[in-house]
Amino acid sequence: MEEFREEHDIKYMRELQEYWDAYMYALISEIYVGTGIALGLSAGNAYKLAKNKPGELQKAGFFKGIFDKFKSIFSNKISWFRPKRINIDKMTPERWDKFNRGLDKYWRNHVDSISEDMAVKGFLAGRETTNFIKKKKPYKNKSLYQVIEDQYQGKIPKNIDNVYKKYDFKNSEKKALNNAFSSIAMNVTKTNNEIKESIRKQVQQGIDDNKSATMIASDLYWNVEKDEKLVNKYTAETMRRNWNRVSSTELSAVHEAGVLAPYEAEAAESLRNPDKAKYFARVGGTCKWCQSKAGTIVRLVPKSIALGGTESLKEMGIHDPNTDIAIWIGKNNVGRKQVEFWICCPAHPYNVATFNPIDLKTEFYNPKTGDVERRQERKKFVPKKLDYSQRNKEEKEYAKPAVIGDNLVRMGSNVYEAVDPGEYNTKLERWKRDTMLPIPVNRSGPQYIRIFEEARKQ
Ligand SMILES: [Zn+2]
Repeated sequence: MEEFREEHDIKYMRELQEYWDAYMYALISEIYVGTGIALGLSAGNAYKLAKNKPGELQKAGFFKGIFDKFKSIFSNKISWFRPKRINIDKMTPERWDKFNRGLDKYWRNHVDSISEDMAVKGFLAGRETTNFIKKKKPYKNKSLYQVIEDQYQGKIPKNIDNVYKKYDFKNSEKKALNNAFSSIAMNVTKTNNEIKESIRKQVQQGIDDNKSATMIASDLYWNVEKDEKLVNKYTAETMRRNWNRVSSTELSAVHEAGVLAPYEAEAAESLRNPDKAKYFARVGGTCKWCQSKAGTIVRLVPKSIALGGTESLKEMGIHDPNTDIAIWIGKNNVGRKQVEFWICCPAHPYNVATFNPIDLKTEFYNPKTGDVERRQERKKFVPKKLDYSQRNKEEKEYAKPAVIGDNLVRMGSNVYEAVDPGEYNTKLERWKRDTMLPIPVNRSGPQYIRIFEEARKQ
């Protein structure tokens, strides 16, 4: 699929990603440096090679700036990666397994806790976004630091246990956070596997080409330099770029889970009481696909009823006059082609679109600003009103079709007349001129079965 890069328009989300990326980039660099040293490069040379990104960026200085910027929030440290010497003459599958086990351990030590931290912060950030929107507070330009100071008195939890201890999370919220974290953990493991594969492939290639260990080591980096278009999928830079896609997409997903989770109880209640239906408008996202979906109205449903492989409310048995599109926490397009995309956030890699709650009576989506806004003047359009109220027994009876004469059935407030196919068009024309007449129903059409045969059963 084509990649649509988008950037979050909420500052605290951009910053979360900025830190996570910097940390992971530095970690991936350290892994390649350690591999180079294991292959025989001097530490000095290995670092020198890793520091210089093709083109402009001085990696080390870049990382330092970001780590300094966030040092009051994050204290993650990256230790040296120093695997046992890689002897290229003796790289048996067993030795590779050993190398990989060492890398796995290093990875887990450095990545597990920050992944959980990001899941927690991303989720809490989503909850705050919901909070800010509810209170009509400006939030898009708030920094991560400000949010933590203002909303968490400077101390924001960084693991899931602490979140549950400190905050009164509903079960649905716990489930949403757990699921979002599982998805992050899965993608983090996938990245680990890609890095292992990339190192082994590069080194094996060097061995096959009869290169010396030092040459292979420098290939790990120099290939990067020769690979300005990043076509080699096994370079350090490709690994770092892949990571950027993961962090961006996963942070959007966990943020969105945090946005929607507080509404899940209402969404569940709305199945019995449609007055509680919770609507959202899809906002943000800068790619063509997202632009074409801007302002789409959707309704939140509990995940438990969205199991049938459909996003249609109707197909879930919910008839809603305002929209037929259901969303639920964790809805995604994984494995779906673009033409089959569902309306969800994120809908594609790098997607930063989000759902904004909307009260259809008092608010509207303004395509000019791309935001949900209060209606200022008298309402220009009011969504079609349907009677949602619970019907009593009598009303239910009244709604059922009932035979009231020869070829006549009443259903609700309408009266229908069964007519032969030959006279249907004439009767229809007559009815169009005078709609007080019974509504003609063609005896050979599908409506006939639905209305007249149903009425005879009563
Ligand atoms: Zn998009």
